[in-house]
Order: sequence, then structure tokens, then C-alpha cells
Amino acid sequence: MPATPAWPPSSLPRLYIDQALAADTLLTLDGPAANYLGNVLRLQPGAEVKLFDDRTGEWLAQIKAAGRKRVSLEIRRRLREREPAPDLWLLFAPIKRGRIDWLVEKATELGAARLLPVLTQRTIVDRLNLDRLRAHAVEAAEQCDRTALPELAEPVRLDALLRSWSAGRSLLFADEEGGVPLAEAAGPAPAAILIGPEGGFTAAERDAIRSLEAARPVSLGPRILRAETAAVAAIALWMSAAGDWSRPPRSAPPEQ
Ligand code: SAM
Repeated sequence: MPATPAWPPSSLPRLYIDQALAADTLLTLDGPAANYLGNVLRLQPGAEVKLFDDRTGEWLAQIKAAGRKRVSLEIRRRLREREPAPDLWLLFAPIKRGRIDWLVEKATELGAARLLPVLTQRTIVDRLNLDRLRAHAVEAAEQCDRTALPELAEPVRLDALLRSWSAGRSLLFADEEGGVPLAEAAGPAPAAILIGPEGGFTAAERDAIRSLEAARPVSLGPRILRAETAAVAAIALWMSAAGDWSRPPRSAPPEQ
């Protein structure tokens, strides 16, 4: 379900549409999207909404007809191009349901471009519902004004990931046993952050990661953070140091 904007909505409702959009075309929605526009927001013909497709950008659309199960809209004009997120990957050992949903939502809001579950020896979760996680990423993207969705990749084993690592991408290895403060180690994209499971990395895994030339062990301070906390903290530090946080929010009033 799309994120319901803060009430009263400060902006137009915003929905992800999984098909390429184009000006002066008609779009008919059914299912959850139609229910949200027609029954939850009770929008009437003439109401405007923003649609984005993770392909062509964000569009202004106007409702032409709104029924209980179907809503038809006319795509009026493109509001902006698709803006790719900074090329930062979050590599994370899957954690329990609920916590992993929260992690995916926050990583999307914070601007990660790719979310890659990594299976380590102490990973306790062996099956992932990627469709559920993808739905959380879509809802977060609708809410936070992204026009590009994060890519949610299929899980990979840590040893396979390290074997195939591209030397051109820095790997900030969040090591609770110590490392350089992340803000100091954060270099330009392409970059990746690696977060371990609740039980942490084994000594053998730690050695294998550290032996990768592109890897830098980084610290997130003196306290042991939950995996999802570590992920959010690490992404925020990288985005602030090397990402796009020097840009103002799109809704910010122009500089006086
Ligand atoms: N091995 C930890 C322990 O001793 O309890 C548990 C792992 S911690 C809950 C999960 C992951 O978060 C770690 O593998 C690491 O990637 C990251 N992490 C947590 N605290 C950290 C810190 N202070 N510095 C760097 N990474 C940290």
C-alpha cells in the first residue's frame, strides 16, 4: 500500500507504477493502487496525483474516472527525469522479519541504490520474501520522493561475493571489533557498506573480508549496534560525507 502522506497532505499523492509512463496517455489502475486513490483518499475526477515508474521519471496525472475497483487517469506532463540514487550498495546479512522490513525501508529513504542480502555463517534467516521487501522499498520510495527504486538483489553467499568483488567499488566493512571511523573512511561512489548478522562475523569471515584489497574495516563507535541500526548509521554517515546530502530536499523553499 502506498505511504499515506502526513495529514493534511503537504503534497499530491504519489504512486509507483510498474510500466513506462508517457504524456497524453490514459492509464487504468485496479487493485491496491485503485483502492488507495478511490477508496482511501476518495479522490474524484479532476484530482491530480504524481506517478513515477523507475524508468522515465515522475509525471503529473489527473483522475478521469474513479470507481470502487478501478481508477482511470490521464498522464498530463513529466515533472522531472528519473534521478538515480548515489551509487552506494548496502550489503547486509538478513535479520528477523520486521527488523529487515524496517532496514529496507530506511535504506531506501536514506538513498541506497542497491540492497544485497549476504548469507554469512551466523545468518539466522535462510528464506527471504523479496516481494514483501520490495513492497516496503516501493512504499518508502513513494513517501521520500525518490524517482529511482533501489535494486533489491537475490541473496548471495559471503564467500562468493568476495570472490567476484569488483576492485573499482570500495567496501566499507562495518567491523564491531574496530576500524577507521566511517566518516573518515567514506570515499566517493561506487561504494558499498557491509553489515553482519546479529551474531556478527566469524574470525575466518573477518580475515577473508579484510584480505580484500577494496575492503576497509570501519567503526561505528564504541557501542555494539543492532544490525539494522548499524546499517542506518553507516548509510547516513556515507551519504553525508560522500553522497548527495549536500543537496536540499526537493520540497525545501528556494534559498532566499
Ligand atoms: N558481534 C556483535 C557482538 O559482539 O554482539 C554482534 C554483531 S552486531 C549486532 C551486527 C553487525 O552490526 C556487526 O556485524 C557489524 O557489521 C555492525 N556493527 C554493530 N556495531 C558496530 C560498531 N560499533 N562498529 C562497526 N560495526 C558495528
